[in-house]
Amino acid sequence: MQLAETVTFGGSGLNRAAELRSDAQAQADLLARGWVLPIWRGKPLVQAGGLGWVTSDSVVLHHAGVRVFLGFDGDRPCFAADITGWQPDAGAEAVQAGFLDTSEQHHPALPDSFAFAELRATMLSLAAREAELVATAKAVLQWHRSHGFCAVCGAASTPAMAGWQRNCPACGAQHFPRTDPVVIMLVTHGNRALLGRSPGWPEGMYSCLAGFVEPGETVEAAVRREVFEEAGIRLGAVRYLSSQPWPFPASLMLGCAAVAVTDAITLDPNEIEHALWVTREDMVSVMASTHPLIKPARKGAIAHFLIQNWLADRLD
Ligand SMILES: [Zn+2]
Repeated sequence: MQLAETVTFGGSGLNRAAELRSDAQAQADLLARGWVLPIWRGKPLVQAGGLGWVTSDSVVLHHAGVRVFLGFDGDRPCFAADITGWQPDAGAEAVQAGFLDTSEQHHPALPDSFAFAELRATMLSLAAREAELVATAKAVLQWHRSHGFCAVCGAASTPAMAGWQRNCPACGAQHFPRTDPVVIMLVTHGNRALLGRSPGWPEGMYSCLAGFVEPGETVEAAVRREVFEEAGIRLGAVRYLSSQPWPFPASLMLGCAAVAVTDAITLDPNEIEHALWVTREDMVSVMASTHPLIKPARKGAIAHFLIQNWLADRLD
């Protein structure tokens, strides 16, 4: 797909300078002159439509763990650090468990224009470079939070390689940040595309079907299995279109197009709540948010991107 990398989080050619990760002195020098992106409970610091960076000596980083070296934005070294141990004076109770956390938390050491905010709410305003930096930061820091113990022997592991590895001092095992592949597919049958919704989604919201790739599966096989499991539909040709890092917490969305050879829907209620075929004409009003019943996938999500490009005849 020619426009593949124009998707949100589609990549900015960030220079990750992986060759510097093992050089402790270089890392110390880079950190001293670099910028650090603090992330609190998965929420990045933002400011004025962009990311909120602090210097490495900022008191905001008082509670920070490992500084993860993200790479260079131009000449500037960029790092990220988790400050989840920080307790805001107010606003923590507002962190909601729902689909989108709209609360913001302010740090007393920063101007009021800085706030910790949910990335789903801010991702559309970020430039491509900042989107790549924050997607990387969020995913790697979440991995540190959830992988503090060796998966081989259970001992506490320690960060290494500028935050890109954890080593086990007990058994010597090395562990690396993981990314979980998810297929998401625009399934068409003639003039219609298949949409579904999961329980718990905002009322009326529909999107493309999606599911995790299982061990031993190709991307194409995962697409065929998921669509049959969720909607009972058999597919013919399947092709890959575009990928999207999706750091909620660590998915890699693999956007595909698939042609259905059957169209009778049989739902698996354990997987999805409803699915339906939507004509191209109706999809125009869905995407314009003028359809009376169906609300579109969230902007910034690859489903939205695939459907828009299908409507514009730009999937090739
Ligand atoms: Zn171990």
